[in-house]
Amino acid sequence: MLEVDVVIIGAGAAGLMCAIEAGKRGRKVLVLDHANRAGKKILMSGGGRCNFTNYTVEAQNYLSQNPHFCKSALSRYTQWDFLALINKHKIPFHEREHGQLFCNDSAKDIVTMLLAECEAAKVKIQLNTQIEKINTAQDLPGFKNLEGLNFSIMTDKGTIATQSLVIATGGLSIPKIGATPFGYQVAQQFGINVLATRAGLVPLTLHAEDKNKFAPLSGIAVPCEVSNQRKSFKEAVLFTHRGLSGPAILQISSYWQAGEGIVINLLPNLDLISFLKNKRLQKSQAKLKTLLVELLPKRLTATLLPEALLETTLADLSDAKITQVAMQLHEWTIKPNSTEGYRTAEVTLGGVDCAAISSKTMQSQQVAGLFFIGEVLDVSGWLGGYNFQWAWSSGWCAGQYV
Ligand SMILES: Cc1cc2nc3c(=O)[nH]c(=O)nc-3n(C[C@H](O)[C@H](O)[C@H](O)COP(=O)(O)OP(=O)(O)OC[C@H]3O[C@@H](n4cnc5c(N)ncnc54)[C@H](O)[C@@H]3O)c2cc1C
Repeated sequence: MLEVDVVIIGAGAAGLMCAIEAGKRGRKVLVLDHANRAGKKILMSGGGRCNFTNYTVEAQNYLSQNPHFCKSALSRYTQWDFLALINKHKIPFHEREHGQLFCNDSAKDIVTMLLAECEAAKVKIQLNTQIEKINTAQDLPGFKNLEGLNFSIMTDKGTIATQSLVIATGGLSIPKIGATPFGYQVAQQFGINVLATRAGLVPLTLHAEDKNKFAPLSGIAVPCEVSNQRKSFKEAVLFTHRGLSGPAILQISSYWQAGEGIVINLLPNLDLISFLKNKRLQKSQAKLKTLLVELLPKRLTATLLPEALLETTLADLSDAKITQVAMQLHEWTIKPNSTEGYRTAEVTLGGVDCAAISSKTMQSQQVAGLFFIGEVLDVSGWLGGYNFQWAWSSGWCAGQYV
């Protein structure tokens, strides 16, 4: 039986970072993954350019039942630490709006960097490996607990005994590239609470009537402010064949509960009432539709406002009608049907209950030697590089203790 100091299950962002740090400490580290390639989600992230962190990272950029949990790790391994690694490997990057940092060339640069660091730290990565069973030392007769080996991991390629076991298998989003509930099952096996999961950072679908009404707008993107009672995000909304997407919708989806409506301000940078009243004085013979076309795509206003109203000249546009137009465009309220689910979601909300985990070491409070890092935990970031920063920070912290 192969014996190592640390087994990390999951060769994703968090698992690789943890492996690098543990390897640097001289620990004998083996990373296992059922996929045929390490870091598959990194490769597909950020439209292929990986939004690897953000210039501003705060606890308020994360959702968790335990909102303070992420603070410690984020403050010990920060975005600046990850940037230092990026700079060490001379990876060209650029900033987009809201402080988001992307690779200039390709997300492959990030995976190449992590694998180079793993190699330098003598980390062994074994892909194409199915994990069949995890046993504790007590479960296995004749297991050499005396040597400090806590777990045995049975795989289709043999059994491995290890002192520390790190679960870095991520969440449920994008099952077609290998996402599984494995991490939650391991937690449950050891009596660790798992909070209900649901898709986050995910497009919203519409009820049949709205879907038919808005599907012809598919492809139109508009800068908006999207809100509900809990949060508000000022970014683009994209109309799709299935419903609504774009960064503002992905962001609010993490705060959306089934049955609720969302409010979309299609002109967040304009006071439409004052604008229309001024125009009424200046261009009284102009039709409303001619004015609105300067502000929003024609097909969108034609879908949202009655034709008779759009054909009205400004001279005939009463204050009440101006208010009606402003309400519709500043406070367009729509009730989504559902989300597109894990098939397209960027993250999984919920997961392993942080109350059962040390925020300093990422080790289970109940099971010595068992660690959880990355998205498998109940910590989910906003869109904007926050999920990778959580993977780096939590992975780094565990790497100091495994
Ligand atoms: C399309 C898309 C784009 C994204 N873009 C961004 C972005 O630009 N910026 C950002 O911050 N976040 C982004 N995210 C989120 C980010 O990718 C994840 O939050 C992050 O990868 C989580 O890291 P992790 O290491 O916890 O899990 P993962 O990176 O998902 O790694 C988990 C690993 O575990 C392996 N695994 C799973 N189950 C098993 C099993 N049963 N046996 C063995 N191995 C297993 C998987 O094969 C995988 O290699 C994006 C997500 C998606 C889906």
